[in-house]
Formats: sequence, C-alpha cells, structure tokens
Amino acid sequence: MAQEDVFKKIVSHCKEYGFVFPSSEVYDGLGAVYDYGPHGVELKNNIKKYWWESMTLLHENVVGIDSAIFMHPTIWKASGHVDAFNDPLIDNKDSKKRYRADVLIEDYLAKTDEKIAKETEKAAKRFGSTFDEAKFRATNPRVLEQQARREAIHARFVKALNDSNLEELRQIILDTEIVCPVSGTRNWTEVRQFNLMFSTEMGSTSEGAMKIFLRPETAQGIFVNFLNVQKTGRMKLPFGIAQIGKAFRNEIVARQFIFRMREFEQMEMQFFVRPGEEMEWFNKWKKTRLAWHKALGLGDAKYRYHDHDKLAHYANAATDIEFEMPFGFKEVEGIHSRTDFDLSQHEKYSGKKMQYFDPEQGQSYTPYVVETSIGVDRMFLSIISGSYAEEALGNGESRVVLRLPAALAPVKLAILPLVKKDGLPEKAEEIRAMLRFDFHCQYDEKDSIGKRYRRQDAIGTPYCITIDHQTLEDNQVTIRYRDTMEQERVAIGKLHEIIAEKVSLKNLLKKINN
Ligand code: ATP
Repeated sequence: MAQEDVFKKIVSHCKEYGFVFPSSEVYDGLGAVYDYGPHGVELKNNIKKYWWESMTLLHENVVGIDSAIFMHPTIWKASGHVDAFNDPLIDNKDSKKRYRADVLIEDYLAKTDEKIAKETEKAAKRFGSTFDEAKFRATNPRVLEQQARREAIHARFVKALNDSNLEELRQIILDTEIVCPVSGTRNWTEVRQFNLMFSTEMGSTSEGAMKIFLRPETAQGIFVNFLNVQKTGRMKLPFGIAQIGKAFRNEIVARQFIFRMREFEQMEMQFFVRPGEEMEWFNKWKKTRLAWHKALGLGDAKYRYHDHDKLAHYANAATDIEFEMPFGFKEVEGIHSRTDFDLSQHEKYSGKKMQYFDPEQGQSYTPYVVETSIGVDRMFLSIISGSYAEEALGNGESRVVLRLPAALAPVKLAILPLVKKDGLPEKAEEIRAMLRFDFHCQYDEKDSIGKRYRRQDAIGTPYCITIDHQTLEDNQVTIRYRDTMEQERVAIGKLHEIIAEKVSLKNLLKKINN
C-alpha cells in the first residue's frame, strides 16, 4: 500500500476509534486545530507521564514548573520572537495555495536523495552479491551528477537561510523547477517573511489594552523563572527545569494532521550548565533523549538524528530527532544548545540580574542552556504511525491492530464474558473490581468474541481476558495477547502479575535508566 494511503487510513482510524477529532467539526472544522477523544486523551496523558517521570524521577537535578500561557509582552521582544520568529512564505498564483519556501526546497532535496537511493538499490539487485555500494556511489555517472546538483543546491539553500536572503530562496525554487503540487505550475509570488505568533489583547480597551502574545514555545516561562526555581529549590548547577504546556503558532502550511498544528503541546526541559560545558551536556542529552524514544520498541531504524542547516538566532548547536512517519523522516524533537542568549536578553530587557552564584568557583555568571523540546502531538502521531498495522489472518479475514507500547496503551485490558448469562457477567465484574484500581480496563459483552477482539486490537489493548463457563469451576480465564493473538489459560490470581509486567511504566523507565 502506498504510504500516502497508509497515512489517510491512520487519520480516519484515529477518528473512528476516538483518538483524534477535527476541532469544531460540526462547523466544518478549524484549520490545523484538533481535539483528542476518549482513547486519544489516555494515550496523550500516558506519553506526558512517560516524559515527565523520565525527567523528574530519573534525574534528581531536574524539577518541574507550570508557568502561565500569558506572559509580559516584552518577554517576546527580548527572546527575539517579535523580530525573528518568521517563516518564509510563497504562494502559487494559479492554485492560490501557500507554502513555506524552505520546506519546498527541503522536500526537493529529500526527493533527490530518494532518487539516488533507488538508483543504488536497482544496481544492488542487478549485481547481486558482487555489488560494492561505496564504489557504485563514487563512480556511477548518473549518481555523481545528481549528487553534485544536490550539493550545489544545498549549499545555496543554507547560505540563503543564514543570510535571510528571500530573493535567493525564490531563485532556488525557480532553478530547481519546483512545481505547485496542486496546480502543477511554476507561477510563484515573491517570498515574504511571516511572523508565526498569535496576538490578543489583555485588559479593557478604555483603560488602554495591552497587546500580548500566545506563547509560541513554553521555554520562555522557564527562563523568566530561572532564579525563582534556583533559589527556592536551592538548586546547584547543573540543573534542569521541565515543563509541559500548550504553545501556539500561526503555521503557514497546516496540512499534515496533528504533525503541524496551530495549537499544540510541548514538553520542554531547559538544562542550565556552566559556560564551556554546554557541548558535553548537549551530547549527553542527545543520547538520553534518543534512548527514551527507542525504549518504546517501535524499531530503532525508525529514528535518526538530523543536524540543523540553519541555527536559530539563539543556538550554537542543534539536532533534531526524526521519526519515520508515513510521509518520510520528520522532526519529533529538537535538542538545542541555546548558549546564554535567553537569560542575557532577559537581564538586558528587565534590568534584573539573571546570574547564578557558583559557590565552587566563588563567582557569578550567566549559565548556558541545553534544551530538549518535544511536541506531544508529534510524538502521539509517531507512536500511532509506528504501531498501525493491517494484517491478513489466513482465513480470508484481516485485522487492524495498533501495536502500541503496552505502557502507553489507553486501555490495558478488556474483560469479556463469553456470553451475557449464566453468571459470567457477574464473574467478569468481580475480576474488573479486582484490577480496575491498577489498570485501565474496558468491559465488553456485546457481539461475538471475534468482533470484540477486533475492537480491542484497533485501539491497541495489549490483553483480552475471556471468562467462560469453565471459569466458574476452575477460576481460570483465557488471556489473549494482542501482538501474537496467542491464547493461554491462566489462574485469575495470576492476572495482575502478568499484566503489570508489561504495562507498567516503571519497567519502561527502568529500561532507560542505565
Ligand atoms: P518545524 O521545523 O517542523 O516547524 P520547529 O523546528 O520550528 O519545527 P521547534 O521550535 O524546535 O520546532 O519546537 C520543538 C518541538 O515542538 C518540535 O520538535 C515539534 O515536536 C513541536 N512542534 C513545533 N511546531 C509544532 C506544530 N506546529 N505542531 C505540532 N508540534 C509542533
């Protein structure tokens, strides 16, 4: 199945099974805004819990805060967002569709890479075991030509981004003959800068309302609280502050479901370090964060690092962790070395000292910051995409299964009496009463057992427990495993232990704590 079709199926699956709904759907929706349904909110909460506990339980020197969305408007002046939080936009005059100029060029570069990879794959098949990939890439004229063209465009692109040269960005789009995917034409407008911040007003207009911004990142709430946290928590460098919260960006192009939203949620951690030690911490956090992703078991090959071509105005190093979505490898998390930019700027604009007194060095300085910043919604999408599978069952039937990491699954077990009579529902109720305080359970007595299994597969429930007539005699139930569909007879008294082993967040956290 084409990847595009897989993505469409995932989007409709999310809706059909109560994970994600378009916002304001009865009014035909609101661009790039989504609501989470009953299963979606459970999965989302579990993702947040996994992140929060990995930060605050596994690192003694990381503490949390929850700062307000509304902040003093000067914060965004100081942080550089008022002047520099822009994306370059371009319109196609025929389709009237709007695009990010940088994304059009990035997609072109990615397509060239794909072409080269395909060429190499074809040759590998042709030559069989004698194939030498390195030699092929270094000598094949077509590959060399494509590679050289790619490098030249890439170099121009990086320079144009760093110089904020909008004419050159447009020229690259023209030179590479990029067409609008909708109209198929190259009839492009100029490239313009577009600020992504939403604004609103605080206070009544008669008293002179103040223009304020909806935060485009949660990080600034951490920076301006740096000293509050350091002093009240008696924190010593290095230490981190973690926060989960909403962020808002008026994205130019918002056509990829919850990948790019206008209202979304971030999980950010700012780690304050001594100046000069930032690269060491940057590398440490890169590793720690990748291990966090990989522990979920969606497949190590689905992740890769991607270093930034253009560093943000505040950064001296930046890497993304990308996940292989149905539409290619895409950023899920950013790890940035933000220098002392933010704290120094706030010191300058507020006139208040933002320094740390280092008792070991006997002097004060402005700490450097390494940040890890991940979008909850993108993480959600990566997990759903990595878990979604359609499987033929061999008897002409098929199933859709979400192989969600068990610890994150919205429902941990389903309790299914085989029939709705003969005391089986009462027995099932007894089992539910025993397990409900520890695990999110779902009780289902409607339809055939096969249909009920399919419903649970579709929402990623790791275990189904079936109660039959035999159960009333021997106190045993059938436990069915989602991934293998194997069934086993086990004693009711054993259920808690079996389920806890796989679904416990503690066991997942233990995997990354070494
Ligand atoms: P992109 O290049 O895709 O626009 P970004 O580099 O601007 O992303 P950051 O500013 O580094 O993103 O934000 C940190 C994280 O927040 C991202 O890795 C992503 O997971 C999430 N994020 C950013 N923008 C959005 C959005 N519009 N919708 C959903 N998540 C987002």
